[in-house]
Amino acid sequence: MKKEKIPFKKSFKNNLFILSLAFKSDKVMVIMRLVMGFFTGLNHGASVFFISKILNALDSGEKIEYIMLLIGLMALYTLAYELFFAWYYKLLFPTRKLNFIRLVHKSFFVKASDIDLSCYDTTDFYNDFIYSMQNCDKSITNTVDQLGDLIRSIVASSSVFAVVATIDIWVALVILGASFVNMILRLIQNGVYYKYNLEMNEIYRKQWYIEKFFSLSDYAKEIRLTDISKNILNEYDRNVEKERKEAIKMNLKARVVETFTTILGHGLTIFILIYMAYGLFKGDGSVLIGGFTATITASWKLRNLIYDIQSKFVEMNKDSLFADKIRTFLETESKIKSGEILLDSFDSLEFKNVSFAYDKENVLSNVSFKVSKGERIAFVGYNGAGKTTATKLIMRLYDVTDGEILINNINIKEYDLKSLREKMGAVFQDYQVFSATVAENVLGDVYTEEKQNTVISALNDSTFGEKLSDLKNGINTELTREFYDTGTNLSGGENQKIAIARVFAHNSELLIMDEPSSALDPIAEYNLNLGIDKNASEKTVIFITHRLSTTRHVDRIYMLEKGRIIESGSHDELISQNGKYAYMFNLQAQKYKI
Ligand code: ADP
Repeated sequence: MKKEKIPFKKSFKNNLFILSLAFKSDKVMVIMRLVMGFFTGLNHGASVFFISKILNALDSGEKIEYIMLLIGLMALYTLAYELFFAWYYKLLFPTRKLNFIRLVHKSFFVKASDIDLSCYDTTDFYNDFIYSMQNCDKSITNTVDQLGDLIRSIVASSSVFAVVATIDIWVALVILGASFVNMILRLIQNGVYYKYNLEMNEIYRKQWYIEKFFSLSDYAKEIRLTDISKNILNEYDRNVEKERKEAIKMNLKARVVETFTTILGHGLTIFILIYMAYGLFKGDGSVLIGGFTATITASWKLRNLIYDIQSKFVEMNKDSLFADKIRTFLETESKIKSGEILLDSFDSLEFKNVSFAYDKENVLSNVSFKVSKGERIAFVGYNGAGKTTATKLIMRLYDVTDGEILINNINIKEYDLKSLREKMGAVFQDYQVFSATVAENVLGDVYTEEKQNTVISALNDSTFGEKLSDLKNGINTELTREFYDTGTNLSGGENQKIAIARVFAHNSELLIMDEPSSALDPIAEYNLNLGIDKNASEKTVIFITHRLSTTRHVDRIYMLEKGRIIESGSHDELISQNGKYAYMFNLQAQKYKI
């Protein structure tokens, strides 16, 4: 976990960044919040001003008309202020806030769909990414609120200070001095909280995983079948214990500083009381009862307001740590840049000495092969050999570390990314079915009537046809229960068929099928192969498979081991080589002999 302090300049920039983000989302709301801060601030000075004027007028025997005028002006000002306040908080703010949050969230969702897949592999970035997604709305409204409050406190303290200074400049200066000391104490206290928060980040991240572990259905089966939850519960205990120790440490330090702050505050009040009471009892007119009352009230106010200003700076600095995460996330530029060339049709794919490392170690080393239009190839090999990684490079989910990948003899980096990916269809090993209707899941898009035949034909070819006839709402059946209480949960194999249908429904020219029949029964697998034959007779297909029923029929097999191609050729050629492929094949074939 990174433990960085945010320097003032960076903190300022971060806050400005968040503010501009808020401004882009809803100008009116931001401006009104700041204007609201200004008027609330002015209200503090105005109340002290009017009270001292009215009391002094009474004390020095002014005419009743003058006193009434002062009271009338005060009432008018208060009424105007209250109306504005009510309009902002009861009408404007609640209606605009929801829309504001919607816009902010949407911009984050769009960004999240666009970042490089490699971002998910970096723990720090991933933590910041999750934080940004979960807290963007709160963080942004918070920053706008903090700034509005800061404006309020600055305007309020300046106006109250002006009123106190006109009554007694020395009292005003003493309050300022005490506030300065107070500020230093607060900074020390803030340092304690800051360090505590950083420690907590790591604890909360673990906590979040533990909560996910026990609440998401993804983990429910393994929890019931294994003892893994014991480890997680032990981790939970360790986490809570760490949290307890950190809280004790933080509380001890913070209490000491707080005690000094309280002593300073009370000392200041006693000093002002003695000083002003002395002036009043001298009876030379230098201190009137209005001035006495106003100074005491104002000194409390001023002390709190200056404390508020400090707090806002401190808060903004603290928030800027979180703003920094949001900024890092939003400013992350995709390293995978789109090229310019539009890919019209697919003719060939070639790996030329391709090496790739997610981190430091090469996962693929010097891999070379070529596939031409209409050919079918298969990658085989043990788990972790690098097969899936090779297909991710073809889709440019990652870029090669060394060597190059050519499509139609041109480096894939030169193609427009969208047009490149449009020519490819993939069934991933960890395929996903979304909380949407069957039709939307197959299309990966919004469903309209004219797409009905495409959807049904794709589902039939992926061997989902029989199940489809059982579904009351057919292709309009809603899948999963995340969004719909009445949604249908399909079996693993049925979900896989939906993912396969997605590939068939699109007019892709290069199909990548990573263990497409891993969850299918043998009959479904047989029928799926027929479906692939029908849909992909003209297409290029790359299989990743351990199923020999598939590898027997492909044009070429590439056997990978530790990121290198160790054997290649047709099934018959590899069998006669009697190498590792033959060994794997014979091992598997034996299982079916009686
Ligand atoms: P295969 O498909 O042959 O089973 P993969 O291509 O999925 O193998 O993985 C090859 C190696 O790369 C494995 O050692 C795996 O741990 C590693 N690997 C896969 N994905 C990542 C990732 N996102 N970050 C780091 N290492 C990864």
